[in-house]
Amino acid sequence: MSLLEKYEPVIGLEVHAQLSTKSKLFCGDSTQFGAAPNTQVSPITLGHPGTLPKTNKKAVEYAIKMGLACHCEIERDNYFARKNYFYPDLPKGYQISQHTTPICKGGYVTIHTSSGRKDVQLNRIHMEEDAGKSIHDLNEHNTCIDLNRAGTPLIEIVTEPDMHSAEEAWHYVTEIRKLVQWLGICDGNMEEGSLRCDANISVRLRGTTTLGTKVEVKNLNSIRNVKKAIEFEIDRIIQLLEKGDVVKQQTRSFDASNDTTFAIRDKEEANDYRYFPDPDLSPFHLTDVFIADIKQQLPELPAELQGRLMSSYGLNEYDASQLCDDLSTAHYFEAVAKHTKQYKAIANWILGPIRQYLNEQQKELTAFPLSPSSLSALIELVQTGKVSFSVASSRLLPALLEKEVDPLQLATDMNLIMVNDGNMLEKWIDEAIAAMPDKVSEYKKGKKGLIGLFVGEVKKKSKGQADPKIVTALLEQKLNQ
Ligand code: ADP
Ligand code: MG
Repeated sequence: MSLLEKYEPVIGLEVHAQLSTKSKLFCGDSTQFGAAPNTQVSPITLGHPGTLPKTNKKAVEYAIKMGLACHCEIERDNYFARKNYFYPDLPKGYQISQHTTPICKGGYVTIHTSSGRKDVQLNRIHMEEDAGKSIHDLNEHNTCIDLNRAGTPLIEIVTEPDMHSAEEAWHYVTEIRKLVQWLGICDGNMEEGSLRCDANISVRLRGTTTLGTKVEVKNLNSIRNVKKAIEFEIDRIIQLLEKGDVVKQQTRSFDASNDTTFAIRDKEEANDYRYFPDPDLSPFHLTDVFIADIKQQLPELPAELQGRLMSSYGLNEYDASQLCDDLSTAHYFEAVAKHTKQYKAIANWILGPIRQYLNEQQKELTAFPLSPSSLSALIELVQTGKVSFSVASSRLLPALLEKEVDPLQLATDMNLIMVNDGNMLEKWIDEAIAAMPDKVSEYKKGKKGLIGLFVGEVKKKSKGQADPKIVTALLEQKLNQ
């Protein structure tokens, strides 16, 4: 029996997403990333005596959006609590968070893995403020503190211990990242720390139901690292169990230079944070109307949109799901579909040459310069046999991206309209056959694969303008005579 047949990994993830509001959770300080250190820090962020925090309504709306998208129950009566602890990057000495009543409860996030669909169960989504940043590598002898981030609104999305492999966790974080971007509530940028993940991992004997002792790997800043850290921990814990050692409940950190983790502290007992309701912030009640309003503003969610692309445009599941990778790609598809009914061709263009161009340029589709009507005109050129797909994608598309003009006019100006005039084609075909008598007799003896060679020759003679489909048919006719 392999070790993975004997043991079952159990994983629960806590994902912090920085909400992309302009200002902080409890004051007007900017949340802009990358400003000079300590320039976005008012006395309210510092919690100075006499200052009064005030809840950012937009942040509450964003949290509710995520909750609705994840099928959570929305808590109507909310309050913020102080979580008291000392840390240099926590200027107030407490973090404002939600304690016993998270704004969103339960719910699930659907993922698709190699073993099929799964609804990962959520425990809660709560709101809290971010801390500042301690910077250890700027100065040899000192740690520097940047408090710009202190007070930035976060939601923390907490799953049940419901995942059982690094692959599931990888899909889950990928889906969360897509969802927050889709909803426009977080930029999902893991490198800048807008999305951070803590992974809780334990291992138990398969068939048992009690949870094993967990370790928590903190602050994973890429989806790859989430997967690598979990793989490493599963392996490490199984080795311990096999040796009969005890697994210590620990907080660990990931070292991306060698894909391992190391202990930062043992968690012997729960910390006492002395939570109490923040006396400076009034509790807030959410009305049905307020929640219904937010529900109305929600964009069509990825799963719904994917279903609609399949039913309305006849796309297959793969194409539809790829187009739903982000909202702007799906919207672009629909914009082009208003101009042409060649739906499959639109998908092929977006997922083929356009995606390649965007990858090369490291751009998002929102920055793609070609208008939907021009793309549809280009597709029609191919569909009506005026230019081949390869010429359209390798020559016309780059030219159109330089300067958008009428695609048909451009193809004419560039001499790229395919020749399907029989006389011209026949002349090139005869020349090609005459030039290669040996190959002709080999073909006639049965080496039918040589047809490609003749077609290639004709293409060359025509400078790419001969329609390969017609050329092939004509060549076969002649050679089989
Ligand atoms: P803590 O108080 O240590 O933060 P929580 O009970 O709040 O722990 O859970 C935090 C995360 O850890 C949740 O995502 C939860 O699903 C997960 N978790 C809890 N216990 C285990 C376990 N034994 N194995 C794996 N994950 C766990
Ligand atoms: Mg935790």
